Amino acid sequence: MAGLLAARVLSEFYDGVTIVERDRLPDSSIHRKGIPQGRHLHSFLSRGCQLLDQFFPGILDELVESGAHVVDDGNLSRVYTRLGAYEMNRTEKLADPAALVIHLASRPLVELHVRRRVAALHNVKIVDHHDVTAPTVITRDRITGVLLVRRDTGERRTLEADLVVDAMGRAARTPAFLESLGYGRPAAERSAANWTYSSQLLQMPEGAIAEKMLLIESGNGLPRVGLMAYEHDMWMLTVGRRAADGDPPTHLAGMLALAEQCTPPSVLAALRSAQPLHNVAIYRNSGGMWRRYDRMQDFPAGLLVIGDALCCLNPIYGQGMTMAALEALALQEHLRDGRDDPQCFFRAAASHIGPAWAMNQARDRVPSGAQRHSLRTRLSTWAMSKALKTAEHDIVLTERFMRVAHLVDPPTALQDPALLARVVAGSLGRRALRASTRRSLCTTVRLAQRRAARAVAR
Ligand SMILES: Cc1cc2nc3c(=O)[nH]c(=O)nc-3n(C[C@H](O)[C@H](O)[C@H](O)COP(=O)(O)OP(=O)(O)OC[C@H]3O[C@@H](n4cnc5c(N)ncnc54)[C@H](O)[C@@H]3O)c2cc1C
Repeated sequence: MAGLLAARVLSEFYDGVTIVERDRLPDSSIHRKGIPQGRHLHSFLSRGCQLLDQFFPGILDELVESGAHVVDDGNLSRVYTRLGAYEMNRTEKLADPAALVIHLASRPLVELHVRRRVAALHNVKIVDHHDVTAPTVITRDRITGVLLVRRDTGERRTLEADLVVDAMGRAARTPAFLESLGYGRPAAERSAANWTYSSQLLQMPEGAIAEKMLLIESGNGLPRVGLMAYEHDMWMLTVGRRAADGDPPTHLAGMLALAEQCTPPSVLAALRSAQPLHNVAIYRNSGGMWRRYDRMQDFPAGLLVIGDALCCLNPIYGQGMTMAALEALALQEHLRDGRDDPQCFFRAAASHIGPAWAMNQARDRVPSGAQRHSLRTRLSTWAMSKALKTAEHDIVLTERFMRVAHLVDPPTALQDPALLARVVAGSLGRRALRASTRRSLCTTVRLAQRRAARAVAR
């Protein structure tokens, strides 16, 4: 996905762009070997959907025509989110519903549409069934292309290029390549890999479940559950289990036995009557890794790294493809500014990755009852649980949480003092909360009036 989005951007600035892919690429929405994660819960966040439509105008409508679900009701009635013991508000209207629209479809379908749009660009060529084995160099300082090996015949050739973008996902070879040239490897930041995931594709008739998406992060060592509607009455169910609690279930019955600890009974009943499609897919490597190319002193010209090859985020937060789109946006700005220094791109990408990485670290740290924690951790956990409790009845807080989770707003949007006032008011009672809503609305209106008056005066 990062490679396709990068190619879309590069096509604006270069005469020719070649995408090299190891798999033989299908012309239908089927799973392929190179994307094992596609067999797990997968979707773009709202911010990612917006960027997808920006890069490929009309693509979201095309996806809907192919069966994708669009969740744009203006409230969150079809999105069930539970964090800890608290459910996000699903009854009141969102102030800015357009920012939180999501399109749900399987990874193979989304990828097929993106690939078709990229392949239709006049200056883009896709060479599939070829392995990239290594970049080529003229001197240590400048990359000049890549070495390719055709997978069926073993035929080798060199592809020359002004710029090589490594988008090979988690298996990227750039660190080893840089080391062989004497640059050393980039430092890597890691986040804990302590969850396993079992995923099952299901068939359920339209209307079996009122919601289109459920995300349950119960905390306290309970399983995590994700469920998402896909095209043609298909659903993806993913159940996460802490690695320390045992092996991930390999059958639907085992997944449901775990899910019943935290899933609403009506949803469980529908899942029990669903038809399983394919086998259960297992994922064990749940950790994140951020290769800090932005911190390397020295880096060769003509090479960039993007997507999971640069940073893979903990998959549970569903940010990877949206982050790839944000990095493609950074690449677009980098090339528009006519910069040749790779570090400028890596720094721009880091400005998108950093806030999400820090937020995930904080979410990963949510303490379980069994461990002892510092006063600071206990205080922030207490404050967060108060905020989540208030969000159950407070759409303003819920909307803010959702905007941050969907990468529409940065995590700092949660540090707004007005939100603290709402949490306090919410803890005092719903009447106080309503009064606080009226007050913050009045303040907003007054501020807007003052700004308008100033503009007129100017
Ligand atoms: C379990 C799981 C669930 C996830 N859920 C979500 C989600 O809900 N939402 C979300 O946004 N993200 C999710 N992600 C992350 C998301 O899949 C990635 O972030 C996203 O695909 C971007 O990755 P990429 O394009 O960098 O790499 P990939 O998508 O992995 O693509 C890498 C490509 O490079 C090819 N390749 C590899 N080596 C070579 C080589 N030597 N030569 C030629 N080609 C090669 C591969 O075949 C593949 O096509 C999830 C990840 C996992 C593991």
